[in-house]
Amino acid sequence: MPEKRKTIALIAHDNKKSELVEWAMFRKSELEKYDLCGTGTTSRRVSEATGLTVKGYLSGPLGGDQQIGARLAEGGIDAVVFFCDPLTALPHDPDVRALLRIAVVYDVPIATNRATADCLLAARLNEGFKD
Ligand code: PGA
Repeated sequence: MPEKRKTIALIAHDNKKSELVEWAMFRKSELEKYDLCGTGTTSRRVSEATGLTVKGYLSGPLGGDQQIGARLAEGGIDAVVFFCDPLTALPHDPDVRALLRIAVVYDVPIATNRATADCLLAARLNEGFKD
């Protein structure tokens, strides 16, 4: 029986959204192999630009990061791509730290820049590389 498709969550701070959208367009053929979800605005922008289905949670500052953290803790998210903005004070820093922390707790890969996101896709999670 084929393995269940893995799920990747996509999140980007405002100044990083265009970069994430560009990355998702470039990596569309690989992202198609995954179930995708993301925070409100990020998921909508990626979906509009790529045509991929991205399940949207609430906007990050309104609880979306925490929804994704909760789903990750329940085993429903296998990897996170989170392009955070290192150059501005983060308006909802506690949410960011909570998500990073819970990813560490559950040993779920979390890519915070493009180079690591590429490594994550190169790991081919759907093919059981991680397990
Ligand atoms: P957004 O949330 O995709 O709804 O803008 C991202 C974030 O800031 O966590």
